[in-house]
Amino acid sequence: MRLRNAMGAAVAVMILIPTAALAGSGAPTPSRPALVSAKAVNTTAAQAEPVPVPAVPDGTSADKVLVIGLDGLRHDRIAAADAPNLDALIAHGTFGTSLLYTAPMAATSSGPGWSTIATGTWPDKHKVRNNTFAGKRYDLYPGFLARLEKIDPSYSTYAAMDWRSLGDQGTFGSGIDARIVLDGDSDGYPVEDGRIIAVSEKVLRDRNPDVAFVSLGNVDIAGHDSGAADQAYLNAIATVDTYVGRLLAAVQSRSTYHDERWTVIVTTDHGHTDAGGHGGSTVEERRTFVLAAGPGIPAGATPAGIRLVDVAATVFGQLGLARPAGLDGRSIAFRSTDPFDRLPLRRRVQETGVPAGIRGFTHTAPPGWSVDNRGLPSGGVEEWRGWSFTTDEFWSRAQRDQWRELFVRGRGVFAVADSDEWDDRPHGTGTFGSTLASAPYPLADRRSARIGYVTHYRQGGAQKAQVLVSFDRGRTKVVKAYTADAVSKVESIPVAVPVGATRMTVRFRYSNADNDWYWAIDDLRVT
Ligand SMILES: [Zn+2]
Repeated sequence: MRLRNAMGAAVAVMILIPTAALAGSGAPTPSRPALVSAKAVNTTAAQAEPVPVPAVPDGTSADKVLVIGLDGLRHDRIAAADAPNLDALIAHGTFGTSLLYTAPMAATSSGPGWSTIATGTWPDKHKVRNNTFAGKRYDLYPGFLARLEKIDPSYSTYAAMDWRSLGDQGTFGSGIDARIVLDGDSDGYPVEDGRIIAVSEKVLRDRNPDVAFVSLGNVDIAGHDSGAADQAYLNAIATVDTYVGRLLAAVQSRSTYHDERWTVIVTTDHGHTDAGGHGGSTVEERRTFVLAAGPGIPAGATPAGIRLVDVAATVFGQLGLARPAGLDGRSIAFRSTDPFDRLPLRRRVQETGVPAGIRGFTHTAPPGWSVDNRGLPSGGVEEWRGWSFTTDEFWSRAQRDQWRELFVRGRGVFAVADSDEWDDRPHGTGTFGSTLASAPYPLADRRSARIGYVTHYRQGGAQKAQVLVSFDRGRTKVVKAYTADAVSKVESIPVAVPVGATRMTVRFRYSNADNDWYWAIDDLRVT
C-alpha cells in the first residue's frame, strides 16, 4: 500500500478534476449541502439500490484526508479477525489505543464518542453526554468538517454515515459540502454499510473531495447481537475490513493520486463488552483507538498517550493548518516529551482490582524528580504508597465508578496520589502525606514563568492539595491550592521569578488525607 507522496504544495492547482467530469455525472452544479436521505433514494423494497453520487465541489488541496469511522470496533479484536487492510494500516501507520471517559462525564455510547471524534474536544466541552444529544454545543465546538468550511470554504468536504443521528443532530451536519445520511436503524446496517461504501468509493475515485468522513455501523450491531467475544463479531470486522480496502483502493486509483498527499485515519467511538453492549464503565466498553497513516506519521508506531480527541487535530495538522483554539487533541504525528511517559512500569503487587498482566505502576520518579514520603505512615496498598506513576487503565481498574475514568486530559503515564486506594490495606496511624518534586527548571534570567499541567482532583474530608514553587535553595511558596473537585483541568499559573534566581522546582503536596479521594497530575511544563 502506498499512502505517501512527496510532492510540493504547488501541485495543488494541477490536480483539479475538469468540471466536465462532474457535469458528466449528470449531477447539478455543486450546491451545499447535498443531502441524500435513505428514504429519498430507497422508497421501495429494493434494499441495495445504489445511492446516487452526490454533487461534490472540486477540492483545492493536495493534502487530503480520509477518516473512516467504524462504530463499536474493539481494537483488541482486530488481530483475531481476518483484517488484512487494517493490519496493513497498523503496520504502515501510527496506532494509538486509549480508554474513554465514563458517566457522569458521558456514557460510552455513540453520541458522545462521535462528538468527541468530530469536535476534537471532550464531553465537558461539546456536552453530548448520551444518545439524546441534549445540551450539545456544536455551535462552540463544530465537527472538523464544518470547522474546515469556516476556516476556508474552498475545502471540499464529504461525509457519509448510516447512523442517522450523526447527520440529524449535526455532528456531521449541514455545513458540509456533500452528505449522505442513510438510516441503518430502519433499513439495516449490513445493507446500508454496503451502499455507503459503493457511493463513497465512487466519490473518492472520481470526484475531488479534500477531506472525507465515511462511517459504518454494522460492527457495532454485531457486537450488540453476538458480543465482542463471538466469531460473528470477528466476521463483521472481516467484512468491514474489505470495505476499508475498497476505500483505500479507490483513493489509490485516483488519476491524480501521485500528485496528492493522502492521510487515512481509522477510529471508533467506543468498545463492547465480551457479551455485547456498551454505555457503561468496564474497560472493554471504554476501549478506543486512533489509527493513522500518511505523510509525517511514523510507521509501525504504537505510542502511549494517543487519545480519541486527536482525530480532529490530526486532520487539521495533516492539512498544514494550525490547531484551532479550544481543541483538546493534538496531531498523532506529535511525540510527547513528558518524562512520565518513558518510565518502565511494573505489574500489580497488592492491588486486587487490576488483572495480573496489566502494566502498571512504578514509584521510581523520572531523572531529577523525587517523591518525599516522610509524611506517609507504614503499610497500606503498595501500588498507592505515596505518589505513583501509572496509567488510566491500571488506575481506573483499581476501582471503577469513582471518577478516576474522568482524567481524560491525562495521557500515557501520569502521577497519582490516591489515599482511598492506599487505605484498602492496614497501615500505621496517621494520614496520607506525599510530595512530588519536579526536576529543577533552568530560568535563564527570566523575571516570570508560567507553570502548565493537567490535573484531576477529587476533594474529600480535610484532604489538602497544594502546588508550590521554590527557587534555587530558597523557601517554597504556594502558588495554587485545591479545595474542591477539579475534574480533568488544564492549568496555567503565572509565577514571578526573584531577581537572580537560576532554577525553579515545582512541588505537588498531597496531605492530611484519611481514606479520602485522590489527586492526579500530568504533563508539567514550565514556559
Ligand atoms: Zn452500540
